[in-house]
Amino acid sequence: MPKPRPTCAYCGKDYGQRDVRSMPLKWACDEPKPAYTGNHIHIRDRFERKNQEFEMEPSPVLQGYMVPKKPLKLVKEYMTCDRETWDGETYFTRYDPFCTLRCALAYARNAYNTNRIRNRTYA
Ligand SMILES: [Zn+2]
Repeated sequence: MPKPRPTCAYCGKDYGQRDVRSMPLKWACDEPKPAYTGNHIHIRDRFERKNQEFEMEPSPVLQGYMVPKKPLKLVKEYMTCDRETWDGETYFTRYDPFCTLRCALAYARNAYNTNRIRNRTYA
């Protein structure tokens, strides 16, 4: 069961984004995509694509660079994606324990003004 989002100390609204971690994943083209087996919550797989590597040779023009050998000869083919998972309790927050900088400043100004009124001296 995921932890609920934190609430702002000033306005009381929910804030924060799930702190999602991304891990690169690689598998062979003819195999099915490996299932997620970890103990985090699997969010989604992004940027799923097929990769091809060709036989390379040193470039005749640019020294130190490699270019594909012509005619193209396939060396390796594989699939990759970025697997995003979340541990179910960590949230990304910028102005903890406030939702925004606006709330943090409003809270600070209120506290400052309250203290100034309380400590006012009458000459
Ligand atoms: Zn707020």
